[in-house]
Amino acid sequence: MFQDQQVNAPLIGVPGGRHLLDTPALLIDLPAMTRNIERMAAFAKARGVSLRPHVKTHKSVEIARRQVAAGAIGVSCVTMGEAEVMVQGGIPGVLITSPAVTPSKISRLIRLAQRARPGDVMVVVDNPQNLADLARAAGELTHPLDVLVDYGAGYNRTGCATQAKVLELAALVAAEPRLRLRGLQSYAGNLQHIVAREERSAAAAALRETVAGIVAAARRQGLNFDIVTGAGTGTHDLDSQENAFTELQAGSYVFMDAEYSRVLANGDQPSPFETSLFVQTAVVSTNAADWVTVDGGTKCFSTDSGVPVVAKGADAASHYAFFGDEHGKLMPSPASQAPKPALGARVEFVTPHCDPTVNLHDAYHVVEGGTLVAIWPVDARGRR
Ligand code: PLP
Ligand code: MN
Repeated sequence: MFQDQQVNAPLIGVPGGRHLLDTPALLIDLPAMTRNIERMAAFAKARGVSLRPHVKTHKSVEIARRQVAAGAIGVSCVTMGEAEVMVQGGIPGVLITSPAVTPSKISRLIRLAQRARPGDVMVVVDNPQNLADLARAAGELTHPLDVLVDYGAGYNRTGCATQAKVLELAALVAAEPRLRLRGLQSYAGNLQHIVAREERSAAAAALRETVAGIVAAARRQGLNFDIVTGAGTGTHDLDSQENAFTELQAGSYVFMDAEYSRVLANGDQPSPFETSLFVQTAVVSTNAADWVTVDGGTKCFSTDSGVPVVAKGADAASHYAFFGDEHGKLMPSPASQAPKPALGARVEFVTPHCDPTVNLHDAYHVVEGGTLVAIWPVDARGRR
């Protein structure tokens, strides 16, 4: 049992337990997360696309189960460790969205595919050499290995750079009896966070046209591109138009961090998703004139997307600054008349970037109002 669970577990069901937690503590507002899961599921259903949410965001079997129960056809994973944890947890339809290249990753993939039912483990490929390695390893399987061809989508983190390369690779997969061609992945991470909605919309439309062209060309050649997967939270509503994609891989919608909330709030409509992930800290020193010190620093919040934003327990206009590994400096806004938070007071923050923040914690403290209702492990934390 993790320390978070041991210390905080006795608070489950205790009235006001949320305010007695050992800190820093990662929190989920359960009703808000549940609404996000239901809203995305209903949205995908209404648009006639499938949902394969990315678990890189939460790394939790419990949350994946809830997404599947709400209608998701499976989950997307980026690391083999995430995929192993999801299969072990009984989650169907696991797509690995990054190539499995080294011998250790390929052998883990094959073991995983053998444990799961055919079709429940799929992997992307973007290189003929890798394809040959996968095919050789898949000889050990009692069923063919399910493969999607990855397209670079202008981002070129992974994926084939051109339509011609996609078609070439897809033909190689189709010709290989130990592999089964399932479709195309086109994930444009660079488009998700474009703040200006019109710009994001235009860029996503251009990519959809390219993807639709690739899929049409593949189908003319008799290649099976039944699955066309991509889209994150930032383009979920755009990429579900015009039938280019058959499914969405959005992940962050479940939690909505500070950065993503700014992106989606900039559209012509309010964001359909609410922040449901917070970190609760405690004030551990109040001796400085211009700030108080809280017990959450760079080992508690990711540092790649700005700073945590106050959600509860202090004036909302206060500014947080990283103050070392274990501490944060919380400065009231100069205009504020509100008293400084007292020693021991709890201050809760919206996380700057949800996925890497979650990976810094062992467990979620699941709250409904002031009550701690459950503690869930971050099952795939640190799993490569
Ligand atoms: N799919 C892939 C391949 C990703 O890398 C990511 C996130 O980085 C996602 C889906 C989820 O996107 P988001 O967190 O923007 O919803
Ligand atoms: Mn992210």
